[in-house]
Amino acid sequence: MAKINVGIKFRPNLSSEVEKQDKWIVDGKTIKSVDNKHTLQFEHVFGSTAVTEEVYDALAKPIVKKAFKGYNGTIFAYGQTSSGKTHTMIGKNKMPGIIPLAVRDIFHEINETKDREFVVKIGYIEIYNDKVYDLFEDGKTELSIFESNGHVLVNQKEYVAASEKEVLKKFKMNNKCKRMTGTSTNENSSRSHTIFRITIKSQKKDDAEDSRNSNLFLVDLAGSEKPDASVATTFNEGLHINQSLLVLGKIIRELAKKNSSLKRVNFRECKLARILSPALGGNSYTSVICNVASTVLDETYYTLCFAQSAE
Ligand code: ADP
Ligand code: MG
Repeated sequence: MAKINVGIKFRPNLSSEVEKQDKWIVDGKTIKSVDNKHTLQFEHVFGSTAVTEEVYDALAKPIVKKAFKGYNGTIFAYGQTSSGKTHTMIGKNKMPGIIPLAVRDIFHEINETKDREFVVKIGYIEIYNDKVYDLFEDGKTELSIFESNGHVLVNQKEYVAASEKEVLKKFKMNNKCKRMTGTSTNENSSRSHTIFRITIKSQKKDDAEDSRNSNLFLVDLAGSEKPDASVATTFNEGLHINQSLLVLGKIIRELAKKNSSLKRVNFRECKLARILSPALGGNSYTSVICNVASTVLDETYYTLCFAQSAE
C-alpha cells in the first residue's frame, strides 16, 4: 500500500433530495459533471450503491494490517457537511462504518495470533474551536497537549479493551455526548473533528526484545464547506475549522509528493495536526476518504480538487 491513499465515496441521494437533479456521474474510475465542464479520475471511486465494507477493504484494511506490524496510521473522512463522513466512519446498525469494521478485524487478528500478547487501548476526543475535549468523559472539560520523550500526548481518558464487544459498547455509549451547539445532529458535528484512537501494543511471547506499538487514528473531520455567514457559525468557529483543514491540506499534499518533506509543515499550527503528528508522515500510512453528494455541484467539485491534490 502507498503511504497516502485517496478514495471518493458518493453517498446515496437522500429522500429530501428527490426534487434535485444529479450534477455528477460516476463511470468506473471517472467522475464527470453533467454539464461536461469537469472530468476527474481517481484510483478508488465508490458510487452511491457501494457499501462501506468496500471502502474499508480498499483504504482502511491495509492500514489496520500495517498496525499489527508496528506502523502508525490515520484514516480521514473528509467532505462537506451531510456528505456522509459520519456514515462512513461510524455507520448504522446494519451498515457498519470504518471504526466498527477496523475493531472487528483487530480482534480477529489478535485471536488468530497465538505467539504474541496484545494490549488494546482506546481513546476518543473532539476538537472544537481548536480546543480538545474528551468524549470518554463528559465532553466538556478541556484537555491539554504535552510532549514527553519526543511523543505528543493528550491527557485523555484511555480504556483497555479486551474484546470487540467491549470497544463497541464503550464507543456507542460515548458517541452521544458530542458537543451540542446547533439544533440538528449535523449542525453539532459539522464544526468539530472527532478522533477515535486505537493503540495496539504487542509482545512476542518467547522474545522479550520483540515488542511493537502502534497508533491508529480514525478521524471524522469538520465539514469542509466554506463558512457561510447565513449559517450560525461564529467568526471564531469558521476561523479554526478552516485553519485546521488548511494545515491538514498542506500536510496531505506534502505527503503525496514523491520526495515529501514534512519539515516544511508546521504541525504546531493547529491541534489537529499536532495530535495526529505521530501518525502522519515518516513510517505512517494515511488514507483520505473524500465524501461527496452527486446532487451538489460546487462543494463536490472542491472536494474532488482536494482529493486530486492529495493523490
Ligand atoms: P456528515 O457526517 O458528512 O455530515 P452524514 O454521515 O451524517 O454526513 O450523512 C448525511 C445523511 O446521509 C445521513 O442521514 C446519513 O444517514 C445519510 N447517508 C450518508 N451516507 C450514506 C450511505 N452510504 N447509505 C445510506 N445513507 C447514507
Ligand atoms: Mg457528521
